Amino acid sequence: KPSDEKQLFGHPQGLFYLFFAELWERFSFYGMRALLTLYMVNVIFEALSTRDYAAAAVYASYGSLVYASTVIGGKISDSILGMRSSIFLGGVLMALGHFVLAIENNTAFFLALAFIIVGNGFFKPNISTFVGTLYKDGDTRKDSGFTIFYMGINIGGAIAPLLCGWLGATYGWHYGFGLAGIGMLAGLLFFWSGIKKNVFGEGGKPPSMEVYERKIMGVPQKHLIPILAFLSAPLIAFLLYSYKSLGGEGTAFADTNVVNLLFYLIGIAVVVYMGTIMIKSKPDERKKLLMAVLITFFMTIFWGFHELHGSVITLFAARNVNLSLINASQTNALNSIFIVILSIPISIMWTKLARNKLNPRTPYKFGMGLVLAGLAFYVVSLSGASADENGMVPFSYLLALYFLISVGELFMSPVGLSKITDLSPKRIVAFMMGVWFLSSAYAFQIVGFISKQLAIESTDSNVGGFDTLNVYLDGFSLIAKYSLVAGIVVLVFGPLMKK
Ligand code: GLN
Repeated sequence: KPSDEKQLFGHPQGLFYLFFAELWERFSFYGMRALLTLYMVNVIFEALSTRDYAAAAVYASYGSLVYASTVIGGKISDSILGMRSSIFLGGVLMALGHFVLAIENNTAFFLALAFIIVGNGFFKPNISTFVGTLYKDGDTRKDSGFTIFYMGINIGGAIAPLLCGWLGATYGWHYGFGLAGIGMLAGLLFFWSGIKKNVFGEGGKPPSMEVYERKIMGVPQKHLIPILAFLSAPLIAFLLYSYKSLGGEGTAFADTNVVNLLFYLIGIAVVVYMGTIMIKSKPDERKKLLMAVLITFFMTIFWGFHELHGSVITLFAARNVNLSLINASQTNALNSIFIVILSIPISIMWTKLARNKLNPRTPYKFGMGLVLAGLAFYVVSLSGASADENGMVPFSYLLALYFLISVGELFMSPVGLSKITDLSPKRIVAFMMGVWFLSSAYAFQIVGFISKQLAIESTDSNVGGFDTLNVYLDGFSLIAKYSLVAGIVVLVFGPLMKK
């Protein structure tokens, strides 16, 4: 049992293996993401004048699917595979995806993204729940355990863009992607050594050996699922490849591709299902569920602006920001760097405020998070006044954007994660966690919408100057308004939600 296990810095030893496994997995995830948009614009879609638009559409589909797959990966783990096998399967698929990305070929490109999507579905939700199982119910160390884990995520997210971005620029894209794959293998090695040293006890084994070994059409489920996971990759690759809109200009589907349509349908299904659960719930349960739905909704808006980092903000950095020490891919490290620096001071601040009974309630934290995102985009929208004659703005504006939005993230993301588990009735907590991850999936639909509006039409590899600067800054100022209004609405209606 966890309490008898060896401790390290007051936490179960297993936490440190999961910490390093997740650090390296996120290293691969964010190292790749730092290169993705620039690689699409400059290599995959290079010849198209609509290359920004195509890259935006694929980035959005990738992001939506990479988070939606966690709902399925979590469910399969709960009912059949268990967390250990799921994490291994996911890690192998992700490493494979990153290595396939290192091959210079357009078909390989879409297939690689598909492997990462399926792999993340098995890896990400299960390593997160694994952390929770290291602690008994009511163990007060659990929150700080998750804070440590979130630090691991962001240490990976901080180092990877710096290294992969440097390799990509100095030796070629494929070295950058290759390093991401090696990172993922390092993560698997850490996880494996934890199992070898028996630090998890019985944790993460299949829920029922009988179900795990049960044969379907002569194949045990423990083998069938990995086979199906591999086979699903070409189908997902096809979905990613179908990035073009279903209808021509002026028609109802002018801005809708297959993946957009899929997410409309999933959205309707989730809303209907949530509605029936709420109708069946007792009144006090219903109020809590409504609150859970609201915070998930606001989180979606926040991530919808935040996840622009890997698309429009990276292109803005490449085309219109004066960079000297780091290149545009490497600017993707800034968010995680600020999270690593700020997460401990901010969690100390919450504890101090709580001691004096001044700790703001969740709705206020969420309102402030959205206001901070609004301010972040507002500040960068002012950068035009300091542009030089080539339409390049000072780096300090980009730094300010990342600083403000990272503080906003710390007001929302870790807080929401723990609130979701408090607000959901036990019988549907896993489902609600899935809905929580869907907020990131839907955020990428927002990202796609915005990035397509801000797509520049050109085949010139040196496109930039005031033509692109004005497009980006107008966009950022509009985003600032939406985010500020959303934040103020949450703050004003906060008292209602508190009830
Ligand atoms: N940056 C965090 C992570 O990678 C949260 C991402 C998200 O949920 N959109 O885990």
